[in-house]
Amino acid sequence: MYPKICAAAIHEIDALKLKSKGIKGVIVDLDNTLVSSKSEHLTEEVRDWVERIKKEGISLCIVSNNWQKKGKKIAKILDVPIVMFAFKPRKRGFKTAMRIIGTKRHETAVIGDQIFTDILGANRLMLLPILVEPLNLNEPIQTRFLRVLEYRFVNRFHEKDIEWM
Ligand SMILES: [Mg+2]
Repeated sequence: MYPKICAAAIHEIDALKLKSKGIKGVIVDLDNTLVSSKSEHLTEEVRDWVERIKKEGISLCIVSNNWQKKGKKIAKILDVPIVMFAFKPRKRGFKTAMRIIGTKRHETAVIGDQIFTDILGANRLMLLPILVEPLNLNEPIQTRFLRVLEYRFVNRFHEKDIEWM
C-alpha cells in the first residue's frame, strides 16, 4: 500500500534520480497526475517534465482507468503511448504498458495520485511506486471517500522509509 517516493507534483520528480535508481520506463497516471480530472489543460511544467524524462532516455506510457477521448488527446500532445480502461489496481494495464515500452519490472516506476489504484497496482507487480499530490481535489464523491481512507495511510507515512522529491 505504501509508496517508495512522494512528491508534491509530477514535475518535482527528478529524471536523473530515477535514472540513478535504474529506472528506464515510467508508467504515468492521467487524471490528477498529468492533468486535472476536470480539464484537458496541460501545464508548461508538465510538458517540460515529459521532455526532460524523454531526454534522459526514459520511456513513458500513460495508464488510465479513464475511457474518454481526453486520454488520447493528451497522449497525442505529449507523444507518448496510452493504455486506457486499465482497471487499476489490476495488473493487466501495467503489464501492457511494460510490453509497449519494453521495460522489466525492476526498471519500471509508476507515478500516480491514488493509493488504491496506482500505488497498490505498482506494489502488486513490484514496480517502483511514486505518489504525487492530486492536481484537483474537487472530485466525485466516490473518489473523495477513497481519499479519506488514503489519508489514514498518508498519516502513517512518516513511520515508513519514504523518500521525498
Ligand atoms: Mg489519478
